[in-house]
Amino acid sequence: AAKAAGKDCVSQYDPAFRTRQTERIRIVERLRHALNAGELTVHFQPIVELDTGTTVAVEALARWLPPGEPPIGPDRFIPAAEDSGLIIALGEWVLRRACADAAPWHRANGVTLTVNVSPRQLADDEFTTKVRAALTDSGLPPTALTLEITEGILVSAGHHSAQALAHLQTLRADGIRIAVDDFGTGYSSLAYLRVLPIDTLKIDRSLMPADEHDIRQLALVRAVIDLARSLDLTTVAEGIETAVQGELLHRIGCDRGQGYHYARPMPAAELAAFTASTVLGAA
Ligand code: C2E
Ligand code: MG
Ligand code: MG
Ligand code: MG
Repeated sequence: AAKAAGKDCVSQYDPAFRTRQTERIRIVERLRHALNAGELTVHFQPIVELDTGTTVAVEALARWLPPGEPPIGPDRFIPAAEDSGLIIALGEWVLRRACADAAPWHRANGVTLTVNVSPRQLADDEFTTKVRAALTDSGLPPTALTLEITEGILVSAGHHSAQALAHLQTLRADGIRIAVDDFGTGYSSLAYLRVLPIDTLKIDRSLMPADEHDIRQLALVRAVIDLARSLDLTTVAEGIETAVQGELLHRIGCDRGQGYHYARPMPAAELAAFTASTVLGAA
């Protein structure tokens, strides 16, 4: 009995768990400081129209560049920001920065902007006001902005889910577009398509077929595209890493592609040069 109790104690004070918690708290403290110190930036990844290969949109992706250290990716700091609520300030900062950068690109050649939004932001009373202010202050028209939400948004928003839905409906009435991000990774995906006011499905890269011999994966992604088309949604395939994948997705009717095959996320200054050579309407 003493032995069993001893075992319980060990698992309760699992050192790996405590290390993770400590790391997360430390990241939040550093992140709060980084946000004020200007160590955050936004990179942009082109989204390409598969019919023409031209860049029609760009996705804003947060980056943390601590001075003298390697960049810290969003997979490490976004979850910590979500847990702590810091995502509300961080998300607003990303949105304002991205709208300001994208407004001249949109004026020059019609490129639109997509920005990731976390469930915590949609539970914020002020979310609609903040989005409208970012648009007004940057001059980006509402129709040039897409908000990317994840399938779990209503679950994660918990008792705020009515609030989340109200924000989305108001913003969509303004002309803003809504995309479901990472489609195919969550559960009850189909129920969300019924409830959410959406325009675009972004198919998660975990569904990307390796090539034309990847029969099961191909059948899955084709089914998602057919479903989206019958609901009049625009489809974007995430994680296109090879020319073969791009051609495959195009052939089965996917509208747009995003991935390292076309371009990696890049700083605003590089993006401007990249789109100048690949956008619709460029000479
Ligand atoms: P996401 O929104 O699904 O963004 C796409 C991610 O896939 C990006 O990772 C991008 O760099 C990566 N990616 C693009 N093409 C390829 C490819 O061909 N192959 C592979 N393996 N990966 C590719 P990143 O920038 O590390 O962002 C990870 C996630 O962090 C994002 O996934 C998004 O969920 C979240 N995130 C990033 N920025 C923000 C933000 O400002 N706010 C919120 N709430 N979340 C953000
Ligand atoms: Mg996204
Ligand atoms: Mg995604
Ligand atoms: Mg993804």
